[in-house]
Amino acid sequence: MYAKLIEYAERASFRFPPERARRMLGMMPDALLKRMQAARFRQTVRLVAERSPFYREEFRRRGIDARAVRRPEDLGDFYTTGEDLRRCGAEAFLTGRPDTAFETTGTTSPVPKRVFFSNRELRDVGRSGAIGLRNLGLRRGDRVISAFDSSFWVSPATARESFRYIGCFHAEAGKIEPAEFYERARAYKPNVIFGEPSWLVRLSELVQARGAWPVKFLFSGGENMTEQARSRVESVWRAPLYMSYGQTEAFGAMGVECAEQDGYHRNDLNYFFEVRGADGDGYGELVYTTLDRDVMPLLRYRSTDVTRMVEEPCRCGFFLNRIGKIRARCDEMVVCGMGNVGPWVFAELLRGASAASAEWQAVVTSDGRRDLVELRVETQDLAAQHSIEAAVLAALRERFPDFWKNHEMRLYDLRVAACPPRSLRTERKLRRVVDERQMLLRRAI
Ligand SMILES: [Zn+2]
Repeated sequence: MYAKLIEYAERASFRFPPERARRMLGMMPDALLKRMQAARFRQTVRLVAERSPFYREEFRRRGIDARAVRRPEDLGDFYTTGEDLRRCGAEAFLTGRPDTAFETTGTTSPVPKRVFFSNRELRDVGRSGAIGLRNLGLRRGDRVISAFDSSFWVSPATARESFRYIGCFHAEAGKIEPAEFYERARAYKPNVIFGEPSWLVRLSELVQARGAWPVKFLFSGGENMTEQARSRVESVWRAPLYMSYGQTEAFGAMGVECAEQDGYHRNDLNYFFEVRGADGDGYGELVYTTLDRDVMPLLRYRSTDVTRMVEEPCRCGFFLNRIGKIRARCDEMVVCGMGNVGPWVFAELLRGASAASAEWQAVVTSDGRRDLVELRVETQDLAAQHSIEAAVLAALRERFPDFWKNHEMRLYDLRVAACPPRSLRTERKLRRVVDERQMLLRRAI
């Protein structure tokens, strides 16, 4: 009943102008929101227990009675992981007939995770995304051009659906060369630009030399960004750059910044968030349960992102509470200008480099403009650095067309550094991918 009531309030609010919609949803008492979340959570548990082979089997194995589960804690130490998705296949999670699918690659394995959705879910995601974009000032009269990569990626689809709700003009450029974008996009006079962080940095370098046109704001997501890089983009365009936080598994954005740029306002209507293994400051792994999915719901899905819940109200007054800025990833996957990269990518790049030993480490840094990926490789012959680098670049071009494309667009630099034997391993386990970029917080949260 609460779920229905909230659904009605959500839908009704969209018939009003943005400020009124925001006020209407903002009037929802916290207790009502919590009861709605609990009702939707129970519904989701029952649905997956009934229809998803993966959850049915896991519940049976662990002796979990779905009818007795009322809160996430009732599931004990049971979580869903990306590895479960890869190992069992998306089909084992299905509870309904899908209309569409998206993929997320990288992480610690070359096998992509596939996630299915319905058109109804796409419409709902578009609607909640539109609330966040309206909060940032996107209006019907605006003109958006998006350079999000549309190859199996969820964000162009969900963004398009949000634009439809808002009613603004919108064109898709795809992730093309920034120089080509600059020439072709201008003809549409876009005042809002969507793009991935490293791509926006490259575009802004070009714009600095050739001249900007007036924009209301820029919008980004899909990878992290240093505050230094953000300030550069903002100073070139003389406009704010806002970030969103999400995952393909979650069907895009679970949180969007506001004008304060002080954490992501989280979508408590459609997700139940938890922080797993929180430290003294509340930082731990973000875990979420989808609350209104009927095709491929996920229970307590481990995001592998480290952050904290921010329960203090935001200065902007927006009714949704926040997720802090993402601090790190729990696994060794790194999201950078190269793309989503994990240890397997570098192992593959080094496969044909005969002078390289099995001891190597990839270190991601940033010069404030673009990411630098330094592949440190132990070798008996330090003079082999150039031949190793040539082999790595050849493998990149041959075997990883997406990473090569980003390299050609100068979204990152890739270098090989030859190191003497036994210089890299300082502990028992050699950490293969290290992210040394400092995600400087504009304000400590
Ligand atoms: Zn805010």
